[in-house]
Amino acid sequence: MENYSILVPSYTVGPEAYKKIPDYCGVYGRTAVVIGGEKAMAAAKDKLLAAVAGSQITLSSFIHYGSDCTFETAKALEALPAVQQADMIFAVGGGKAVDTVKLVALDLKKPYFSFPTIASNCAATSSLAIVYNEDGSFCDFVHFLESAKHVFVDTEIIAKAPIQYLWAGIGDTYAKFYEVSVSAKGEHLEHYKAVGVNLSRMCIDTMMDHAEQALKDNRAGVPSYDLEQVALTIIITTGWVSMLVARDHTMDYNGGVAHAFFYGLCSLPGFEESHLHGVVVAFGVLMLLLIDGQQEEFQALRDFNRKVDLPTKLSDIGVTVADVEKAAPEVVKDADLEHYPYRVTEDMIVEAARRLDTAE
Ligand SMILES: [Zn+2]
Repeated sequence: MENYSILVPSYTVGPEAYKKIPDYCGVYGRTAVVIGGEKAMAAAKDKLLAAVAGSQITLSSFIHYGSDCTFETAKALEALPAVQQADMIFAVGGGKAVDTVKLVALDLKKPYFSFPTIASNCAATSSLAIVYNEDGSFCDFVHFLESAKHVFVDTEIIAKAPIQYLWAGIGDTYAKFYEVSVSAKGEHLEHYKAVGVNLSRMCIDTMMDHAEQALKDNRAGVPSYDLEQVALTIIITTGWVSMLVARDHTMDYNGGVAHAFFYGLCSLPGFEESHLHGVVVAFGVLMLLLIDGQQEEFQALRDFNRKVDLPTKLSDIGVTVADVEKAAPEVVKDADLEHYPYRVTEDMIVEAARRLDTAE
C-alpha cells in the first residue's frame, strides 16, 4: 500500500480574525512581508498592524504585488530583499495576489498565510495558481503548490467589499458541487476523495440557505451570520473540496460542463473582458443539469438563480445560440471535460443552449 498525507489549510473567521495572527504564525518566525493588491492592503493594513502590535511578529513591509499573477511578477517579487529576508509571507487580496504569492513561496521555500479581502473564489485555500501572460491572456494552471499554513477570514472587511465579488462567487462555488458530483459518478472513491465529493454538497446547500440574506448583508456592509456562512463556503469549503478530489493529476474531479462552457465562450472576441467568471459559470451549471438529465435539480437551481439575480436565460449572459454554436468546438475540447462520465458533444451543448434560449 502507498503511504500518503492529506493536508488542508486551517482557518480563523470573524470580524476580528486577524487577532489570531500571533497564535498561528508565531511558530514560523518573527518577520512577515505583506504582499497584496492595492485596495486589499488598504482595507487590511490597519487591522494587520493592530493585530501584531505588542506581539513577537513584525510586518517588515507592504508590497503591491502588481496587476496580474504572472511568472514575471513572481520573479520580480522574489528579487526584493524585503521578500528574501522575511520568515513568512502574508498574502492579502482576492485571487491574483494570493496566486502570485503561491509562486513566490514555492521558489523561496517560505511559508505563507492568506488574508482574503473579498469572498469570490477559493484561491486563499487552494493549492492552485492561475497564471496569466504579461499581455493579460491566460497562460497556465499551476497545480499542487503548497497551500497556505492558515487562512484568516475577516468578515468585517469582506462585508464592505463590492457586492459583485460575492455574487459571482456564489455561482462559481455551487458549480463545485454539480461538477464534482457528476465527474465522480460511478467511481470507486477512496477516503479523501469520498470526503471531498460528500463535502461538495455544502457548496450548494449553504447557498440555498444563506445566499439571499448574505447578499443583502453585503450590500448593507454587515458581517452577519449568513454572510459568514457564504464567505466560508466560497473561500474554505470549495478550496478543501478542490484539494481533496484531486491529489494528483490522475482522477481530477474538479471541473465539468459549467467551466468548459465559460472557457469555450472565452474564445469569442471580447467575451472574457465583459463577463464575470462566476456569473457565467452559474449559468453553465444550468447547461450541465440539462445535459445530465437532472430536470428537478435544474428547476430548483433556476428558481434559486432568479432569487439572487444570477442568469437563467442565454440572453442574460449576452450571447445567442449562434454564439454558442461558434464556441461549441472549444467547449467540448476544454480540459475541464477530461474526466467526465460520458463524452459531451457539440450537439449536446447547442441543444442545451437552445432550451435555455426559449425557457421561461
Ligand atoms: Zn471557476
